[in-house]
Amino acid sequence: MKKKTVSGVIKDLQRILIDEKAIEKRIREMAAEISAECTGKVVTVVALMDGSLFFVADLLRRIDLPIKLVTLCASSYHGTKSTGKLTVNWPANISFKDETVLLLDDILDTGLTLSEIRAHIESHQPAWLRCGVLLSKRRERAREVTSEYIGFEIEDEFVVGYGMDYNGRFRNLPCIGVLQLDSAD
Ligand code: 5GP
Ligand code: MG
Repeated sequence: MKKKTVSGVIKDLQRILIDEKAIEKRIREMAAEISAECTGKVVTVVALMDGSLFFVADLLRRIDLPIKLVTLCASSYHGTKSTGKLTVNWPANISFKDETVLLLDDILDTGLTLSEIRAHIESHQPAWLRCGVLLSKRRERAREVTSEYIGFEIEDEFVVGYGMDYNGRFRNLPCIGVLQLDSAD
């Protein structure tokens, strides 16, 4: 692997799609919207790791409410493609009964991840359940699912940065960009 700095990696992106400032601004807006809608509640946030790590860390620090955080590891991607199969590490004694639940993921793509996890949480009879994603791809979904909070709509292309990876790399880029696949070494 060639030695590179983060700014060197950013220069090698095909294109920066959303810069750090725009992400920060949009997350503040989303946090204000969620805080207003859930006033007076304790919010159970279910965050899908690893992709939503940075989004969740920044969003939650701006939500002006008490929060209980549950993290789940969910994966369905291999390289730049969805495998169509989802694996989730559900903890044994999980319960969402009568809770105010906010399910967060980095990106809505085929819809498989959010639809399966949303349905599972719904089966635990929460009092309130909404989804939030930083990005939503404009494409046909394999599974219908609603995300009530969306940071940005993007075209159907593979993105990295701000938590999102390509084979485990690029998560620590402060911006979101499109990868030049031949420079991903
Ligand atoms: P879905 O289940 O909706 O197809 O995909 C959701 C998951 O696939 C996301 O949580 C994310 O981990 C991964 N994913 C989908 N599109 C992209 C993308 O463009 N870049 C990266 N890095 N991951 C993606
Ligand atoms: Mg994911």
